[in-house]
Amino acid sequence: MIVVFLGPPGAGKGTQAAHIIDKYGIPQLSTGDMLRAAVAAQTPVGVKAKTVMDAGKLVSDEIVAAIVEERIEQDDCAPGFLLDGFPRTIAQAEMLDAMLTKKESSVDVVIELRVDEEALIGRLRRRIEEALARGEKPRKDDNEETFKYRLQVYQDQTAPLIPYYENQGKLKAVDGMGSVEVVSAEIDVILDQFGR
Ligand code: AMP
Repeated sequence: MIVVFLGPPGAGKGTQAAHIIDKYGIPQLSTGDMLRAAVAAQTPVGVKAKTVMDAGKLVSDEIVAAIVEERIEQDDCAPGFLLDGFPRTIAQAEMLDAMLTKKESSVDVVIELRVDEEALIGRLRRRIEEALARGEKPRKDDNEETFKYRLQVYQDQTAPLIPYYENQGKLKAVDGMGSVEVVSAEIDVILDQFGR
């Protein structure tokens, strides 16, 4: 089962992914996490990506697609995987389609988590407060100004994927405004059609 999670920053993709990997036994492939690991390890990709990420902009399609292509070759991806944060542009979606076609495979379903902008900003403020209360520094791209920029990037570059996958008959929209449990239950109903 190959699942794509689509949704603006802060929509709950990471939280819902945790539930899915447990229940369906497929790994979560978060390009944001992979890039942050590359930044922390100061790999050549990480060094290039750091400034772009801190500014809330998108890393190049080629870099991100290469990371994903390498990752999906690993054994744990054989039963399928959940893509969280990729694709984020039409070009990336086309690259994904091409790399899966080579493996005689394809995306099964795209889950779009819908959360309105005001709620996303409220969630961001809570995340910052909680990080500060724990004595941690919030993520560099998690300040209000950069976050609003990331929302704009989502609207401009990622939202066009909604009609792209709708046209392929793969898009399932889920109301992401409810509690974690309610949203999980809605996602379960969709994924149960694809088997465990
Ligand atoms: P995320 O954790 O998914 O919000 O990603 C954090 C940051 O990593 C984004 O703001 C981008 O700078 C970068 N990033 C993650 N995934 C991608 C992607 N598919 N394409 C381009 N940049 C990405």
